[in-house]
Amino acid sequence: MGNYRPEIPELRKILAFNILDTLETAGFAEIKQRRRVPPDPFDTKERVFTRDVTEDGRLQVKVFTTIVEDEVRNSGKDAIRVCATWLSSEDDRSRGVVAVSRVHRTGDIQAICERMLSRMREVWGRVKTLERCSCGSPKFKSKKGNMVCADLCWRRERRRRWQNMTRKKARDGKVSHWAAVRAE
Ligand SMILES: [Zn+2]
Repeated sequence: MGNYRPEIPELRKILAFNILDTLETAGFAEIKQRRRVPPDPFDTKERVFTRDVTEDGRLQVKVFTTIVEDEVRNSGKDAIRVCATWLSSEDDRSRGVVAVSRVHRTGDIQAICERMLSRMREVWGRVKTLERCSCGSPKFKSKKGNMVCADLCWRRERRRRWQNMTRKKARDGKVSHWAAVRAE
């Protein structure tokens, strides 16, 4: 299909078209990025595609395409990124559970798409062997570097213990906090 040259707008469009075609064939669908006001520094205008690994859609493989509108960005440095994320029910945020794998946009256009597809398959495969928490959710590497539950299930447990304690206080007539009289 010919070598990709980022300085040629026509080739940026052709590469974008082929990336989109590869993603669609693989069953990936575009997600609309959540826009924050004011925009946060990690906000990206590039198009992002996902495919659900689990039926509830909380575990997904994600592809950050470097495509803005209908062409790939004119920068040789940035790469297509593939990763897997888990959406926590505790704080409604996605966390990376399979580290980002980069696809550099150099060489033949078809070869770039094939490399992207093979990274997508790799990430998909690694999802199956993720370390799991006792609650069943996958773990992710925290900022401190240890593996913790991507669903933040310990917060649920802490809340449950706290509720039990306040209920017991209410039952015992030791109402010392407004929460203790909150309905069961
Ligand atoms: Zn857990």
